[in-house]
Amino acid sequence: MAGEPHRIVVVGAGFGGLEAIHHLKGAPVEITLVDRRNHHIFQPLLYQVATASLSTSEIAWPIRHLMRGRPEVTTLLGEVTGIDALARQVLLKDGARLAYDTLILATGARHAYFGHDEWEPHAPGLKAIEDATTIRRRILLAFEKAERETDPEVQDALLTFVIVGAGPTGVELAGTIAELARDTLAPDFRRIDTHKARVVLVEAGPRVLAGYPDDLSDYTKQSLESLGVEVVLGAAVTECTADGVVYGGKLLPARTIVWAAGVRASPAAEWLGVPADRNGRIIVEPNLTVPGHPEIFAIGDTVSLAGPNGKPVPGIAPAAKQAGVYVARVIRARLADAPAPPPFHYKHQGSLAQIGKKRAVIDFGWIKLRGALAWWIWGIAHIYFLISVRSRLSVALSWLWIHTRNQRSARLITQGSDEDDSHAQKV
Ligand SMILES: Cc1cc2nc3c(=O)[nH]c(=O)nc-3n(C[C@H](O)[C@H](O)[C@H](O)COP(=O)(O)OP(=O)(O)OC[C@H]3O[C@@H](n4cnc5c(N)ncnc54)[C@H](O)[C@@H]3O)c2cc1C
Repeated sequence: MAGEPHRIVVVGAGFGGLEAIHHLKGAPVEITLVDRRNHHIFQPLLYQVATASLSTSEIAWPIRHLMRGRPEVTTLLGEVTGIDALARQVLLKDGARLAYDTLILATGARHAYFGHDEWEPHAPGLKAIEDATTIRRRILLAFEKAERETDPEVQDALLTFVIVGAGPTGVELAGTIAELARDTLAPDFRRIDTHKARVVLVEAGPRVLAGYPDDLSDYTKQSLESLGVEVVLGAAVTECTADGVVYGGKLLPARTIVWAAGVRASPAAEWLGVPADRNGRIIVEPNLTVPGHPEIFAIGDTVSLAGPNGKPVPGIAPAAKQAGVYVARVIRARLADAPAPPPFHYKHQGSLAQIGKKRAVIDFGWIKLRGALAWWIWGIAHIYFLISVRSRLSVALSWLWIHTRNQRSARLITQGSDEDDSHAQKV
């Protein structure tokens, strides 16, 4: 109706959704932001929660609080299960419907097990806060159980940590678990020598950090090995069980397995019945609208789009944020009856991965960095992108403690300490 504010529903308060809302400030719109979680997560540091380096509240913030200064934004906790595109309504799990004039889908992705979902209870992936605390719990419990174990074979399995997938998350997890065992935990245990813990990084491809230049990839492998990580390349995992991991036709007994090997988009493409790529990502138009639905935008990890040089736009935070900024511009132009902005153009700013204390790799394209300098830049960049001043100070302090005293203060086993790990709940 004329005179009524334009209704925008944003599904997902991740990097893409929040950035779109941020750039719609002052526009004549009424926004409903719906997310199935009450918090926004800084996923790049999730592995530090999983490895007891940071606590959950240092990398996650209540969405409602983030929107407190935006009276035109209503935050709802709810899970979206479908979209009635004809009626222009978003369907929630509890039966509620949210009407929209424009819809922004920013629902991200989750880990995927290449058709073997039965592996998930044995090899949790890392995406949500619950995933991180589950992994942290398993790692810490394994050391606790090993301290009391008398059977050497079982003790070896308890002290073997396998990470499947040597992308940035796998590398970061492997390096940090090795440092946790070697530096942090060693003085705290009496019966076991935590230096003997095995950290095995298994990768199906021929290199670690496959998306990085060869020399940075080689440096990363050597750095991991110097931390004591066993890097196994060209080995596809064919089974994950409560007993361990099978690759190359052999079982490696291990009680802790972490999955960092594959992702699958949210079911947004299924909600709309539109074409998706093999990872379930919506194949969007160059202006980030869903084919056949100019009033629906999809951004971030849940979409597939060719970037510069025909390469796909990567599933990383800056890509989701740039898409959020772009969509806000398109909506503003439409509301002002102004010409539509040119198609979305993704600008790659660089790739960063931490390997361990004072070791990281950075590929800015025009310059490649590794070692301590890269680590400082990595650290400063991550602190800069955290949301609040409190989090920045808190993370900086936690890192100072880790680097000067080897102390990781978030070594808490939560969700009980006697539950059988292999049957931990799905999150
Ligand atoms: C462990 C890990 C480490 C990473 N490290 C880096 C890094 O170092 N650098 C980097 O640039 N990128 C990194 N990434 C990738 C980066 O986090 C993602 O590319 C980015 O979060 C994508 O943003 P998004 O807005 O598309 O989705 P997300 O940020 O994932 O947000 C999606 C939101 O949608 C909500 N949602 C999903 N489904 C529903 C539903 N049905 N109903 C309601 N709400 C829903 C979710 O709760 C979530 O809040 C990492 C990712 C992970 C998992």
